[in-house]
Amino acid sequence: MPEANHSTESIADEFSPVFFPERAHLLIQVSGTVQGVGFRPFVFGLARSHRIAGNVRNHSGGVTIHAQGTASGVQAFLCALKTAAPPAARIETISTAPLPLNSFTDFSILASEVMPRASTHVPPDLALCSACRAELSDRADRRFEYPFINCINCGPRFTIIESLPYDRPLTTMRGFALCDACRVEYTNPADRRFHTQPVSCPDCGPKLTFKTAVPDGWRDETADDPLTAAAAAIDAGRIVLIQGIGGFHLACDARREDVVQILRQRKRRDEKPLAVMYPSLEDAAADCEISTPERDALLSVRAPIVLLRKLAHCSLAPSIAPDNPRVGVMVPYSPLHALLLRRHPPPIVLTSANLSDEPIAYQTEDALSRMKGIADAALLHDRPIHMFADDSVMRVVRGKPRVWRRSRGFVPEAVKVRPPFHAPVLAFGPHLKNTFCLGIGDNALLSQHLGDLENAHSLRAHAAAVDHLLRLYSADVRRAACDLHPDYASTRLAEEWSALHGVPLVRVQHHHAHLAACLAEHGCMQPVIGLCLDGTGYGTDGSIWGGEVLIGDARSFRRFAHLEEVPLLGGEAAAREPWRMALAWLYETFGDEWQAIPLPWIEQVRRDIGTAALSALLNPRLRLGIFPRTSSLGRLFDAVASLTVFGLRPQFEGQAAMLLEGVMATTEEAPYPMEISTRHHETILSATPLLRALLADLAAGIPAPVISRRFHEAVVDGYARLCGLARNHTGLQAVALTGGCFQNAFVLAGLEERLDRDGFEVLSHADIPAGDGGVALGQAVIANAQEDC
Ligand code: ZN
Ligand code: ZN
Ligand code: FE
Repeated sequence: MPEANHSTESIADEFSPVFFPERAHLLIQVSGTVQGVGFRPFVFGLARSHRIAGNVRNHSGGVTIHAQGTASGVQAFLCALKTAAPPAARIETISTAPLPLNSFTDFSILASEVMPRASTHVPPDLALCSACRAELSDRADRRFEYPFINCINCGPRFTIIESLPYDRPLTTMRGFALCDACRVEYTNPADRRFHTQPVSCPDCGPKLTFKTAVPDGWRDETADDPLTAAAAAIDAGRIVLIQGIGGFHLACDARREDVVQILRQRKRRDEKPLAVMYPSLEDAAADCEISTPERDALLSVRAPIVLLRKLAHCSLAPSIAPDNPRVGVMVPYSPLHALLLRRHPPPIVLTSANLSDEPIAYQTEDALSRMKGIADAALLHDRPIHMFADDSVMRVVRGKPRVWRRSRGFVPEAVKVRPPFHAPVLAFGPHLKNTFCLGIGDNALLSQHLGDLENAHSLRAHAAAVDHLLRLYSADVRRAACDLHPDYASTRLAEEWSALHGVPLVRVQHHHAHLAACLAEHGCMQPVIGLCLDGTGYGTDGSIWGGEVLIGDARSFRRFAHLEEVPLLGGEAAAREPWRMALAWLYETFGDEWQAIPLPWIEQVRRDIGTAALSALLNPRLRLGIFPRTSSLGRLFDAVASLTVFGLRPQFEGQAAMLLEGVMATTEEAPYPMEISTRHHETILSATPLLRALLADLAAGIPAPVISRRFHEAVVDGYARLCGLARNHTGLQAVALTGGCFQNAFVLAGLEERLDRDGFEVLSHADIPAGDGGVALGQAVIANAQEDC
C-alpha cells in the first residue's frame, strides 16, 4: 500500500479501479461550513446506505472521515458527500488520501476535538426543513403542531447564540432543560437531532402566549391555542404583533385594503412596499409569476423575501406595493409561521415591527412598548431573541438571484476574501441601509441589515450588533474603516470607536468601497473598470458622486469619467423631493428659458412651489455657494421620473426610479442621445441632449412607457460607450458593475448583456448587495489593502 498521498484536485483519478480493485480505505478531509449543520449525521446515514465502515469526527479545520468499503462503494459515498450534503452545509474543499485497510467493523461518530475559537463558524438561521415540516403535520408525532420544532438541518442559530462555543448553555435555550425523550435524540449520533442545540418538544420547550391591547397596556389572554386566537384576530381585521426568528413582525390580512391602510397609518409608513407571506408556494403562484430560480430562492434554507411580478388578477390589497409591478413574497420559514398560516389561509402582510425607519424590534418588552397603539394583539413566546436579523431580500435578474438585503439566513456566514486580512479590521459602513463588516483571516463577516442610522434606536442597535459580533469572534481589531463623508452617523461612530480603542481609522470614498465590494465578491485582485452607478456618495473633491467610472482595485483608484454635474438643489432635500433634480436638470439644459417651455409639469411647479421660492433656488450666486454639485445617476433617474410619472410628490429612497422602471415599455426603443466630451482632462457623460429630446417627447405627447424605455436605453448605451473609452485608455478588459442603480433590473441586465457582447469580462453582484448594504465589505478590504502601502 502506498503512503498517504494528500491531494485536493484529482479526487476522481484516485478512485480509478486500477488502484482499488476490491476494497479501499480512504481518508477524507472536508473543510467549510460543516459543523452545526447536520454534517456528521448526514455522513453517518450515507455510510450506512453505501455499506461503508469507518468513522467521522469534527476538528478545528472541519470534518475528517475514514471510509472503508468496496472501491465502487467508497467512490459512490464520496460522490454523494459532494452532491447531497445538508442544505446549510457549505463545502469549501475535499481532500482525499488512500490508506491501508483497517479493521473497522461499523461506522461511528467520534467525539469532537476541542476546537480553537478562531476557526469556529457561527451558522446562520435556517428555514424549517422538510423532515420537520412532515412531523409538524403528523398526528402521531410527539411534535405534532409544535411551533418550535427544529433539527440539525433547521431552526434558529445566529439569533439565539449569546457567545461561543455554540453550545446550548450559551444560547437563549439555556433556560429550557431537556426532557428525557429530547435528551435521547440529542445524544444519539444517528438521530437527526444529534447535538442540535435548540432542540425541544411540547414537554420541555418554549410556550406561546397571546395578549390583546388594552388602553393601559397589554392583557394576557388565556387562549387554549394562542395560534388560533392570533389567526382569528387577523381574520377579524386586527393587526397582530408576532415574535419571529430575527425579530418581531406586524401581521394583518393582506387582502383587505382597509386593514392595510390602517397598518400604514399607524406605522407611519407612507408608500414603502410591505412584504407578504403565503401559506405555500402554490398559494403565492395564484397571485404572482414564479420562475424556477425564484421558486428555488423562496424554498432555500435562507428563506428570503423574493420580489415577484404580480399577476393581473393578483388578490392582494393594492396599497401593499402601490404603483409597483412587483411584491415581496415569503413562504413560512419557521414552524410558528407555518402553523399560523394553516389557521389563516389567505396571505398575510408580514412587516418589521418598527416605526418608519427604525430597526426591527427584537426584545419583548421593547416590542410591546413600541408597538402599543400600533398592534391590536400579540403572539409571543418565551424563547428570547438575542440578536436581531431582518428578513433578507432578493430579486432574480437574468435567471440569477441578486441579494438586495443580506440579513437573516445569511448572517454571519463569511465572505471569503483574498488576500487575507493582516489583522482584524472593523468597517463601520455607510449611513443608509447600514451594515458593518468584521474582517478576520480570510473571512469578511458582513453584519445583518441595520437600516438608516437616523435615530437613537438605530444607533443603539448598531452598538449592540457590533459588540455581539466582536464578542463572538473574540476579535482584537487593529484597524477601523469608515466613509469619507464627515457627517455620517457611521463616520462619527467609527471616530469615537477608533479613538477609544486606539486604532487607526481609514476613510474610504463611497464608490471606491462599492467597487472593492464587487471585486471581493469575485475574488478579483486586478485593477478593473468600475462602473459605480449610485444615489449618493461623498467625493474626494467634496461634490456628491454617483455616476462614476473609476479605474482601480482595493488599493487605490482614479476617477476616469462621470456624469455631467448639476447642483443638488436643496441639498439633502433633493433626494426626498425628485422635482428638485428635475428643476436642476431643466435649468442646466435650458438656462432661464426653462420657464417658457409649455409643459404641464412646469406650470405645476410654478403654481405649487411659487415663483419666489423657485428663483431663490435657482439664483446662481445662491446655489453656487450653498448647494454641492452632483454627478449622481440616481438623481438623474429622480429628475426623469418626476417629469414623466412621479410629479411633485416626495419619495422614499429610490421610489420614483422604481416607478419609472415599472412603467417601462417592453418593446425596444432608440436611446435618447448622451454626449461624451472631455473638459479639463475630465471625461464627461452629458445628459443635456437627453433632456432636450425627452422634453420634446413630452411636448409631443409620447407616452411615459416609451419615454422611460428610451431613457433606460440611453443610460445603458452611454455607460457602455464610456467603458469602451476606458478600455482604450487603459487596456483593461474587466468591468465591475456596482452601486444602488444596479437594483434596476433593466440597467443591470442591459449593461451585462451589452458589455458581454462588447467583449468585456463583466463582474456584477449576486451574493453581496450592489447597493449600500455591501459598502462595509469594500471598506474593510480597502483598509486592509492600504496597510501594505
Ligand atoms: Zn428540521
Ligand atoms: Zn423535550
Ligand atoms: Fe451607495
